[in-house]
Amino acid sequence: MKIITNPTELQRQCLAWRKQGLSIGLVPTMGYLHNGHTSLIDRARPECDRLVISVFVNPAQFGANEDLSSYPRDFESDCAKAEAHGADLVFAPEPGAMYADNHATWVEAPKLGEHLCGASRPVHFRGVCTVVTKLFMLTQAETAVFGEKDWQQLAILRRLVRDLNIPIRLIGHPIVREEDGLALSSRNAYLTGVERAAAPNIRKGLLKLAGKVREGERDAETLKRFLTEEYAAALPMGVVDYIEIVDPDEISPVETIARNALAAVAVQMGKARLIDNILLEV
Ligand code: AMP
Repeated sequence: MKIITNPTELQRQCLAWRKQGLSIGLVPTMGYLHNGHTSLIDRARPECDRLVISVFVNPAQFGANEDLSSYPRDFESDCAKAEAHGADLVFAPEPGAMYADNHATWVEAPKLGEHLCGASRPVHFRGVCTVVTKLFMLTQAETAVFGEKDWQQLAILRRLVRDLNIPIRLIGHPIVREEDGLALSSRNAYLTGVERAAAPNIRKGLLKLAGKVREGERDAETLKRFLTEEYAAALPMGVVDYIEIVDPDEISPVETIARNALAAVAVQMGKARLIDNILLEV
């Protein structure tokens, strides 16, 4: 498995592969790989001839008071996992190699970032869209796999690819969880024992909410109030950032669940901001 840190070198390698008629797959990550990431790699592997994993803690998607400097890293372990799951190349640039001092070009889809994580993290999706566009251009990938854990991110990237006619196919992969239901996240490493023990209640609340919808409840306000009360009882140390019910494609709030909707939450548990979601099918 190759390790490349220089963007131009990555582009040269990928162009050479394309000239040989080989298709390229891409799985972008911020590293500290867990089984969620490796399941994305497994999903991508049979879709392409050459598989590129990027490991880049992208400064542009972190706000000033967020966890950029403390974000967990373990590059050796990441490379071992990527290789064990069949990656051909790990791309791990330094921030300065991706963003020149006078970097001035941004990609964004502001309408889809008005709610959920975009509301509490104003520069986040602009940073994501820009770096992912750069990765698409550098790799010339035909296929890229993203996790549904970051549902809003996936919805935005699908729109970006359509709107800018980028010749790539995006595959969404279901959320990978611990046995107790907690969605895997690199940020789970921040949780204290007490926080970790309570964290599965994020998912449990979402499942109860989906149960209410199955029983016929359609009013979003009632459902959100229900989940707010659940979390107040089951996650006393959690500070809810948002509990929202949105259209799964437009990421805009719905008042009544007339067709499929997405319930999405973000809860700050100590140092860890945890997100999760569930599709409400009607
Ligand atoms: P990150 O390293 O957190 O930026 O995540 C890189 C990719 O892995 C994104 O497409 C995420 O949505 C995906 N991902 C992270 N955690 C999970 C998970 N528990 N299940 C499925 N995909 C995930």
